[in-house]
Amino acid sequence: MKIRDLLKARKGPLFSFEFFPPKTPEGEEALFRSIRELKGFQPAFVSITYGAMGSTRERSVLWARRILEMDLNALAHLTVAGQSREEVAEVLDRFLEVGVENILALRGDPPQGERVFRPHPEGFRYASELVAFIRERYGEGVSVGGAAYPEGHPESASLEADLLHFKAKVEAGLDFAITQLFFNNAHYFGFLERARRMGIGIPILPGIMPITSYAQLRRFTEVCGASIPGPLLSQLERHQDDPKAVLEIGVEHATRQVAELLRAGVEGVHFYTLNKSPATRMVLERLGLKPRP
Ligand SMILES: Cc1cc2nc3c(=O)[nH]c(=O)nc-3n(C[C@H](O)[C@H](O)[C@H](O)COP(=O)(O)OP(=O)(O)OC[C@H]3O[C@@H](n4cnc5c(N)ncnc54)[C@H](O)[C@@H]3O)c2cc1C
Repeated sequence: MKIRDLLKARKGPLFSFEFFPPKTPEGEEALFRSIRELKGFQPAFVSITYGAMGSTRERSVLWARRILEMDLNALAHLTVAGQSREEVAEVLDRFLEVGVENILALRGDPPQGERVFRPHPEGFRYASELVAFIRERYGEGVSVGGAAYPEGHPESASLEADLLHFKAKVEAGLDFAITQLFFNNAHYFGFLERARRMGIGIPILPGIMPITSYAQLRRFTEVCGASIPGPLLSQLERHQDDPKAVLEIGVEHATRQVAELLRAGVEGVHFYTLNKSPATRMVLERLGLKPRP
């Protein structure tokens, strides 16, 4: 089912969950368990990430197929970094062959240790070029999403410049966007207001990551540039060696964030699950949602 159509037909907010393709048989088992556990919340779609420089190509296609076989709707992430146009086209065809109807069109990050993104000599430079390519190749046969950055993309010179680039990406053919994770809703609301003022009308789904580990949080935010509100950070620092306390702080914070977003009338909420179900499940349950058996 195309996410574009689901968003148009929705009667209430949509929920979606993001997973990454595991490397080991144990990781695979754990992911099957997590997906089964969260399936009861009837997600509008389940997304599967695409490893840097195409490193998870095979596994991403495999997991997109598995998600569909579990009677769930799949959103396949696709990055262009380190790949030629031809290679990207091949992966796109494979996603479509297994039945994927939704692609999250992304540029990807430079390889580890490099600060500047260098496009493949025969590849795409920006995600907007991939969006245009997908539209040219498949027309409306695919629903296309893209990334949005409420606090600005780390490489962009300013919020304004980043928003102009985002607008160009939307105009290349995006149906919807999903934001980078953020811990202060003011960033999302500010971004949404600026985007709407510029005439960007597509649904922009907030991406929420319930914090489950202090060390992991620090690693992630360093890479993606999301800021952590001072009081939340000091609370986490005080309890960083107590995993149960960190989970409780993370779930409580995410629950408050999602409740406020829902009150504001967002079209949906996308959860970064990190392949684990408990924190996301706890947030949804605290919001009063009950999984269907
Ligand atoms: C929801 C979400 C899911 C993600 N999933 C994955 C994943 O599965 N795998 C993965 O490896 N990474 C993933 N990422 C990370 C993403 O690949 C990185 O953030 C990457 O650095 C940028 O990708 P993009 O698609 O936003 O790039 P773009 O939209 O191309 O933007 C990248 C930078 O280029 C600038 N820019 C864009 N157009 C122009 C232009 N015409 N001229 C000058 N500058 C321009 C932008 O302002 C920005 O600074 C995800 C991010 C998000 C938010």
